Amino acid sequence: MRRPIIAGNWKMFKTPGEALSLINDLKSLISHVQAEIVVCPPFVDLPAVVVAVQDTGIKVGAQNMHWEQEGAFTGEVSPVMLAAVGCQYVIIGHSERRQYFFETDEAVNRKVKAALAHGLRPIVCVGETLAQREAGMTGTVVENQVRTGLTGLPQEGRENLVLAYEPVWAIGTGKNASAADAETVIAQIRALLADMFGAETAAKIRIQYGGSVKPENIQELMAQPNIDGALVGGASLKADSFSKIAGF
Ligand code: PEP
Repeated sequence: MRRPIIAGNWKMFKTPGEALSLINDLKSLISHVQAEIVVCPPFVDLPAVVVAVQDTGIKVGAQNMHWEQEGAFTGEVSPVMLAAVGCQYVIIGHSERRQYFFETDEAVNRKVKAALAHGLRPIVCVGETLAQREAGMTGTVVENQVRTGLTGLPQEGRENLVLAYEPVWAIGTGKNASAADAETVIAQIRALLADMFGAETAAKIRIQYGGSVKPENIQELMAQPNIDGALVGGASLKADSFSKIAGF
């Protein structure tokens, strides 16, 4: 059985003070939920949020990282630093990083390896653009992203991977993929993982859907056999909507 995982990607929203207020509001609202809950605030909020979630069961993740442990990489943050402040997860290869910061599948691969090597659980994002979907390329695009992004991983710890299928056209647009369409692609991803890592490992890896998830569509998504959770952007910024999604 794969434990559902609902993660909130706060993107570039919330000062440390605003972050604490959101966590405070969330605490009581999600105390009963069965799913694993992860919040991914901006870097500067991480230390305060790690302290604020103590004893709540909420886990904390970052939104990006560099693959090196340390070095002359101005503006970057390393996996060692994230682990040291108490992060357990890190989002890797989000489409906004790919689109605006030119992150390649090769960079994603280095980051995934570095995250696992430092005990962080990567949430690896893949997904096609609208043009790619309309050209019938969804399967090929996602396959390339998964194969290149996850190539050469050591045997140990592969089951700690989380994947997020996020069609780019559904992110922040209010247009979500239908539950059936999301299930089709996510089932393909699981088959691909079985080909790469073996069926037993593939059956343990959790795969989320992301793209305009809201309280109104979470149940239908979670009812699909291969969808193990959601990566939530906009709706994770308010305690009311995120807690409803978390309790789906
Ligand atoms: C995201 O940022 O990963 C995302 C899915 O955003 P939204 O829920 O706002 O579409």
